[in-house]
Amino acid sequence: MPATDPIHDLLIVGGGINGTGIARDAAGRGLSVLLCEQGDLGGATSSASSKMIHGGLRYLEYFEFRLVAEALAEREVLLRIAPHLTRPLRFIMPHVPSLRPAWMIRLGLLLYDSLGRMGGLGRRVTLPGSAAVELDRPPLAESLQARYRKGFVYSDVAVDDARLTLANASAARLLGAVISPRCRFLGAARTQGLWHATLEDAGGRKIVLARALVNAAGPWVAEVTDTLPAGAGTPRAKVQLVKGSHIVVPRLYPGEHAFILQNDDRRVVFLLPFAERFTLIGTTDIRVDQPEDARISTDEVAYLCRAASRYVRTPVEAGNIVWSYSGVRPLFDDGRSDPSAVSRDYTFVLDRTADLPALSIFGGKITTHRRLAEAALARLRPWFPQMGPAWTDSRPLPGGDFGTLSELVDGLRQHHPALPPSWLRALALRHGSESDKVIGDAQSVAALGRDFGGESYHLYQREVEYFIEHEWAQSAEDILWRRSKAGLSMTPAQQAEFASWLERS
Ligand SMILES: Cc1cc2nc3c(=O)[nH]c(=O)nc-3n(C[C@H](O)[C@H](O)[C@H](O)COP(=O)(O)OP(=O)(O)OC[C@H]3O[C@@H](n4cnc5c(N)ncnc54)[C@H](O)[C@@H]3O)c2cc1C
Repeated sequence: MPATDPIHDLLIVGGGINGTGIARDAAGRGLSVLLCEQGDLGGATSSASSKMIHGGLRYLEYFEFRLVAEALAEREVLLRIAPHLTRPLRFIMPHVPSLRPAWMIRLGLLLYDSLGRMGGLGRRVTLPGSAAVELDRPPLAESLQARYRKGFVYSDVAVDDARLTLANASAARLLGAVISPRCRFLGAARTQGLWHATLEDAGGRKIVLARALVNAAGPWVAEVTDTLPAGAGTPRAKVQLVKGSHIVVPRLYPGEHAFILQNDDRRVVFLLPFAERFTLIGTTDIRVDQPEDARISTDEVAYLCRAASRYVRTPVEAGNIVWSYSGVRPLFDDGRSDPSAVSRDYTFVLDRTADLPALSIFGGKITTHRRLAEAALARLRPWFPQMGPAWTDSRPLPGGDFGTLSELVDGLRQHHPALPPSWLRALALRHGSESDKVIGDAQSVAALGRDFGGESYHLYQREVEYFIEHEWAQSAEDILWRRSKAGLSMTPAQQAEFASWLERS
C-alpha cells in the first residue's frame, strides 16, 4: 500500500455537521483538508435531529448558560448565512400549572431573551422576543384542546439539518477541501513525523498522510479513538450514547408555529410544522450501547403519540405515522445518570503525543457547529500558526447569497413561467440562489426529464442528476430522505420504482 496522496494539514474523520463545519472553516483559512465519511454525508445523527437552531430553553433548568448564550447567538448567524435552509419559528408553550408554575416559565423566557440579546451584542437581532398568549383566540384557537387557554410564545429557528451539512461540505470543496464520502477510516499511526492513516473505499485500501487528525465521528468517536495509538497520559474520554426518535404525521394543526409541550415526566416534546403538509413530533432520550441502535421502538412511538395527544384535538395514533427516524446523540460522559440531564455542550480531547495532534470531539449541536469548528481550530492553531482568522460568520453558505426568500422565489417564477410554481419554491428552499444551476436550460416541465411522482411535490430527473453530480448522492435513501424529503410525497410503489430506476441508470 504505497502512500500516494499529498500531505494534508488535516484529516477529518466524519462527515456530519461537525466534520463538514470544521472542513469548511479550515479550508477557508488556507489549510489543506481531507474529509472521509464512511457512509453518506450527514447520514447519521446530523440528519436525525429535531431540526431546530435553538438556544435550548430546557437547558436553562440545568444552568447551561454558556451553551444557551452561544446557541442563541448562532440563530441570527445561521439565518444570515443559510437563509434558504433556516426559517424563524415561533414556539408556543401551553401553560400547565401543575407541571411548571407561570413565574418559572416567565423567568426562563426573560433569561432566554436576555441571553439572546447579549449573545447578539453589536449585531442586528431579528427574532422577536417572548410574550404571553391566549390559546383560545385566533390564530391559535383551532390548534389545541379547549382546556389549554393560556400559554407563552418565544422564538427559535427551524433548519434543514441534512442540507446544512451538505452545504458545509460543498463550501469546503469550493475552498479546496477533498470530501470523500463512502470512505472509511480504519486507523492511523504516527510515523516519521506524520500521521499515516488507512482509509478504505470501494476502490480498496490506501494510506494518506496528514499533519493533524480530527476525530469528528459523532457516535463512533470512541471507536475511532480506539484505533489510534494510545497517547502518553491522554485521557480516554468516554461517550454517552443517547438515542432520540421522531415521528412524522399528517399536519395536526393549522398555522406555521411550533409547540413545545410539557410532558408529565418533566421532559418536553416538540411539534413542528414539517415539509408543508406534515407535523414532526419528537423526541425521546434513551441510553443505548452502540450507534447502530438508532432505531425507533414501539415504546417510543407510544410515548410520542401519548405526549402529543395530551394536547392536540385529534389523538395521534401509531397508524397515522407516515415516517419516523432515530439518531444517537454522542454526548460527553459527565457522569449524570439521567440521559435528559447529560450536557449537550461540546468537549474536546486533544492528544498531542509526539507533537502530532489528534483532536476528538464529543457532543455539540447542529446549532453550535460553526462555533465548535472555530474552537476546534483554535485548539489546533499551535501546529498551524499560519492559518487565517475566523471568518465563517459573515460568508454565506453555497446558495445563501440572496435577499429575501420571497424575492428569490418570485424571481425564479418570473424567469421560468412554464415550470411548476410549487416546485420552484421547494427548489429555492433546498438550493437557494443555486436553484438556477439545477434548472439549467430547462424551459418546460418535459425538459426536467422523468417525473418520479409525488403528491404536492414532484421529484424530477433533472434535480436527481444534480444531487448525484454536485452533492455526492448515490442511493435512493440519499435522495428521497436527505437531499430532499421527496419520499414523504411519494407512494411506496413510486419510491420502489425510483430506487430501481436509480440502480439501472
Ligand atoms: C434526536 C436528536 C435530536 C436533536 N435535535 C437537535 C436540534 O434540534 N438542534 C440541534 O442543534 N442539535 C440537535 N441534536 C444534536 C445534533 O444532531 C448532533 O449533535 C450533531 O448532529 C452531531 O454531529 P456530528 O457531526 O458530531 O455526528 P454525526 O452526524 O453522527 O457524524 C459523524 C459521522 O462520522 C462518520 N464516521 C464514524 N466513524 C467513521 C469512520 N471510521 N470513518 C469514516 N467516517 C466515520 C459517521 O458515519 C457519521 O456520518 C439532536 C440529536 C438527536 C439525536
